[in-house]
Amino acid sequence: MAGGLGEDQKQARAARTVGHVARFVAREDPLFPQEDSMAKCEVCGNEYYLAFQVITAGVTHTFDSFECAIHKLAPICDHCGCKVVGHGIEANGTFYCSAHCAHAEGARSIVDNAEHVPAQ
Ligand SMILES: [Zn+2]
Ligand SMILES: [Zn+2]
Repeated sequence: MAGGLGEDQKQARAARTVGHVARFVAREDPLFPQEDSMAKCEVCGNEYYLAFQVITAGVTHTFDSFECAIHKLAPICDHCGCKVVGHGIEANGTFYCSAHCAHAEGARSIVDNAEHVPAQ
C-alpha cells in the first residue's frame, strides 16, 4: 500500500474534516455564540466578550453596553426629544417620555398623578 491511505486513516481524516466544519459553522452562527467569541457593537464598533443581542421587530442587534443599545433603539419623545428609557407613553401614534410631554401635545387623557384625573 505504498502511497495510499489505509481505511482507518481515511476515516480519521474524514472525522477531522467534519469536526472542523462543524466548529466553523457554530462560530459563524449568531444563535450559538462561542464562549470565547468576541461580538462587535454595531454602534461604537467595540469588540467585547460580554456583548449582547437585542431583538426588535425580528431584527437582531448587537451591543457592548446598554448605553449603545439606548442610543440605537430607544424611542425619542415627540415633545422634548429625550430618549425614552423607561416605559414611556404611547399616544397620538407616537411616544412621549412622560405624561407632561404627552399632555403638552394634546393627549389630555394621559395623567401623571391620580389627583390629576379630570372630573367625570
Ligand atoms: Zn457600543
Ligand atoms: Zn418628553
